Amino acid sequence: MVILPSTFTGSPRHVHEYAQDAMTYVRAYGRPDFFITFTCNPAWDEIKELLLTGQSPSDRHDISARVFKQKLKSLIDFIVKHHVFGETRCWMYSTEWQKRGLPHAHILIWMMEKITPNRIDEIISAEIPDIEIDKDLHDIVSKNMIHGPCGSLNNNSLCMPDGKCTKRYPRDLLAKTIKGNDGYSLYQRRSTEDGGKSITLKVLNNTIDVDNRWVVPYSPLLLKTYNARINVEYCNSVKAIKYICKYLNKGSDVAVFGVENTTASNEEVTQYQLGRYISSNEAVWRILSFSIHERYPTVVHLAVHLENGQRVYFTSENVRARAMSPPPTTLTEFFTLCRNDTIAKTLLYSEVPTYFTWNTSTKNFQRRKQGRAVQGHLNLYSTDALGRLYTVHPNNAE
Ligand SMILES: [Zn+2]
Repeated sequence: MVILPSTFTGSPRHVHEYAQDAMTYVRAYGRPDFFITFTCNPAWDEIKELLLTGQSPSDRHDISARVFKQKLKSLIDFIVKHHVFGETRCWMYSTEWQKRGLPHAHILIWMMEKITPNRIDEIISAEIPDIEIDKDLHDIVSKNMIHGPCGSLNNNSLCMPDGKCTKRYPRDLLAKTIKGNDGYSLYQRRSTEDGGKSITLKVLNNTIDVDNRWVVPYSPLLLKTYNARINVEYCNSVKAIKYICKYLNKGSDVAVFGVENTTASNEEVTQYQLGRYISSNEAVWRILSFSIHERYPTVVHLAVHLENGQRVYFTSENVRARAMSPPPTTLTEFFTLCRNDTIAKTLLYSEVPTYFTWNTSTKNFQRRKQGRAVQGHLNLYSTDALGRLYTVHPNNAE
């Protein structure tokens, strides 16, 4: 029997939780302002300098994983601590790998003050920079931010499984940025007649001219700081958010493995097992315990259940005791809190984590001792923490 990997550990349930957390931010603060995709660049000096003679970055996923992890942290800090686009309210990221590929991170950013459409042009560009004005930026864009080309220029491009570009390239040329109504803005992409630039690329031994229709939107500031493929999109509709939250949290690739019986008589019987595809880079990332997701602020999950309907863990020894006095949950303790705390009485269940912490060992809510002092209340502090109730599907009604 040939045993192939593996058990399916990346539970879709877990993935669903992150999408729900993203929607908690949306409920509290509306749409995110930016959707950023940051891709590892194997040509970074920090990676190349550490390779031994004769090695390529794909031989050393330990190096590329470590360098990408550092750059990702730096990029998040650049935005949320150094406020390069303004003060931020919340953020989350999720790391993914293409099959056999390098990591990329999907990042959502909520600004303290919403980015207005008239600021799009100062932050995002979808044009080839003028080589005379900024050669560095021109080179980074030419190398990292050109889609495909696909379509009739290159029928083998991976973006068109059904002969049509799934990323909707080439885009239309546009003299001026306009606010799109499908959730994405339409950025300025000037034609060469209108002052737009073009570059020549070699595709399948053909030299072709590429103009602004092929540029993946980017932030000049982030590109010059990080020298990598960094796609920056402005979000302006709820539809885009729903798509992004699903996209952000779709989880690991799932593969079906064949389990073949090579010894016994039933050779024609091939069993299949659902498994998770993990690239070398992702394996290194997980061995080093780097986070796949991070976010700010905390989202506290709040239990919802019927009376005596909470989940209880027990062993054969303590089953009786547990049944007699089941452990408190955030819901039962919310009721206790409302009986004893005058402030808690005025709060919705989902607002409790802003002012109270859940102590997992003593299983009760305690007033926060740190945070912003709430005016007019002694010993009351608020934080950015948000609460989220587990949703109960109508099918699960009593
Ligand atoms: Zn394409």
